[in-house]
Parts: sequence; C-alpha cells; structure tokens
Amino acid sequence: MKFNTKTIHAGQAPEATTGAVMPPIFQTSTYAQKAPNDHQGYDYARVGNPTRTALEKMIAGLENADHGICFSSGVAAIDAIIRTLSPGDHVISSNDLYGGTYRLFTKMFEPVGITFSFVDMTDNSKVKEAITDQTKLIWIETPTNPLLRVADIETLASMAKKHNILTAVDNTFASPYLQQPLDLGADIAIHSTTKYLGGHSDTIGGAVATSNEDVAEGLRFQIKTTGAVPGPMDCYLVLRGIKTLSVRVQRSIDNAKKVADWLVNCPDVAHVHYPGLESHPQHKLAAKQMKDFGAMVSFSLKDDSIEAANSLMSKTKVFTLAESLGGVESLVSHPASMTHGSIPKEVREKAGLFDSLIRLSVGIEDADDLIDDLKQSLN
Ligand SMILES: *Cc1c(COP(=O)(O)O)cnc(C)c1O
Repeated sequence: MKFNTKTIHAGQAPEATTGAVMPPIFQTSTYAQKAPNDHQGYDYARVGNPTRTALEKMIAGLENADHGICFSSGVAAIDAIIRTLSPGDHVISSNDLYGGTYRLFTKMFEPVGITFSFVDMTDNSKVKEAITDQTKLIWIETPTNPLLRVADIETLASMAKKHNILTAVDNTFASPYLQQPLDLGADIAIHSTTKYLGGHSDTIGGAVATSNEDVAEGLRFQIKTTGAVPGPMDCYLVLRGIKTLSVRVQRSIDNAKKVADWLVNCPDVAHVHYPGLESHPQHKLAAKQMKDFGAMVSFSLKDDSIEAANSLMSKTKVFTLAESLGGVESLVSHPASMTHGSIPKEVREKAGLFDSLIRLSVGIEDADDLIDDLKQSLN
C-alpha cells in the first residue's frame, strides 16, 4: 500500500463482532476470560486495548516499521527509549532540541549516570568526534525545534551502525508524511502524536516505530511495567487525525511557503528559518531527505529585543499565542520563554536561539489572512 492509502486503512479492518467500519473506543479496563489465561488476546488494558492496537498498527504502517508502540505522551515515549539504557551509557544528541527532551535528558537521566553530549548535528564530523566506547544511542531531531535545522539521517545512521550504536529520530516536526527515518537507516522513529498525527490540538500522545525486535520487546515490557499508556479515546482521536494527515500537512506547507516568502521580503524581519528557502543552510539536504519542507517557520526581528517580539505576539488575531504545533489552526510562540524556557539562556544562545526568535506553526487557514495578520501585528 502507498502512503495515503495507509493513512486510511493500515490496521483498520472493520471490527470483527459488529462490522463497525471505524475502530470502536474500547472503554474498558479488563476483559472476560473463559478459564485462567484463556482469553482473546487481551487480559488487562494497561497491557493492551484494541483501540490502541489499531493505532499501533497504523503507526507501524506509516513508518514502514514492524512494530508501533503507543504512549501517553511524546515525552513518555522518549523516556521509555532512554530507560532501555544503563548507567554509564552515553547518548549523542543535538544542541538544538525540543526543550522537554533536553529537560528529560539533563534533569532525569544525567543524575542517574547516563551521559549526554549535545552537538551541532548539522555537522556530521561533530557527531563522529563525540562517539566514545560507551555511546549506545544517537538521538536525532530533524528538522529541529525551533531553528528548523536539518540533520542527515542516512549518513548519521550508517555511521552509528559501524559502531553498533542505535539511531533514534524524533520525527514529530516532519511527520511520516514527509520523512520516514527507518527507510533512511534509523532504528527508531518517535512521535509526539499530540502534533501533526493528532492534528487538531485536542489530545496528548506519543508513539514509537521500530523494526528492532529487542527495542520493541523492551518497550512493550516497559509499558506494561511503568504504565504510561494512552487511553482508548485518545487513541481514537489520533486515528481520526491521521486519516487527513496528508491533506492537512500539504495545505499547511503550501501556506507556510507563502508566509516564509512574505517574511523574507518584510523590512522588519532579520532572519527567516525555513528549510524550503534556498538560503537555508541545509536546503538541499532537506529536499533530498523530505518529501516537502514542512509547515514550521521561525524568524527574528531586526529589533532584537524581547519587547519587540512580545509586541508582535500579543497583537496577532488569526495566529493564536500558544505552545504546541501541528494542528489545523495557526499558532505563534516564543521559544525562549515558552517551549525552551527550561534551557539556560547561555546554552540557548550558544545554539543560536535568541530572545527575539518567534516560531510559527502554520495551519490550514487562507494564506492571505495569515499574512495580513502578521502585517497588522508588525505595525
Ligand atoms: C511536543 C514535542 C515533544 C513532546 O511531546 P508531548 O506529546 O508534548 O509529550 C517531543 N518532541 C518534539 C519535537 C515535540 O514537538
């Protein structure tokens, strides 16, 4: 099956007892057994739920993976992957990373002896230099949040393989519509399904896709043991969102391109970060690795003050000032104080994330209204 067909059909056979075409929301915690351990594949809903199974099959389908495993949030999925490591193990990660991932790595895992190197992942040689005998995982986020830098998944994954290191890619920003990390050689793809997969800003969830049997088994054991499972209603909402993934994301991208082009020519704007612009440092890599350039755009103003950024963000009417991304509605946010507030200022600025940076998640409204809104907010 091709991608668009899979978004409708992967793992979505009509329900066996009633023929319900849509996967029912199995709102149950337990399942009747005929005799002890004689059941129909489900014994307790922390371990498994048919609505969750339908979503897990869908995630595996979209990422061309053997296994999909769903979690209660994106960070719960990331947490589970790092928990497969042991004290003394080393992880190489990007210096331009989702703030919550950075917080998880440095506040939860560094104190218990897992070590992290945060490097510029747009430079493959920096990753190579950081490899040690203890390195077990390369954690890639591409495009990055919020600077939209692009890392070369194929090159990094093949480098990792030579050293017996696993590669995980946070594929949240691209979504599987644009990028399939496993096809590029990565071992694990993770998602915050809260974002493009859910697509309507109405649920929190996470997912992992992998064809590595050991990783899949480890994660299934963890989810049973630690219990960070999504509820059936949330699984249903993500499944419903995925059905329109391609059309939503493509329309958001068409809008994002228009918004980015307008920003580039706007006299008040200093710099626009968007992989679709030829001026973007990894434009060619993005064109090769992704089906299209995504719908996230960030920019800085010539007036490099937090006040100028705040003034714009408090005036927008179509763009809602809010955290998160990937929904049908356009959002504006201030990474330095919102999503990335947990990263110390010196660390942020070393990575190029300045206080004046503004991030847009471009939605599916009319592009003219989005541009008019930015125009009136800059006045
Ligand atoms: C939102 C996000 C996460 C965390 O996901 P939650 O569902 O909010 O826990 C992880 N990575 C990226 C890139 C994100 O945007």
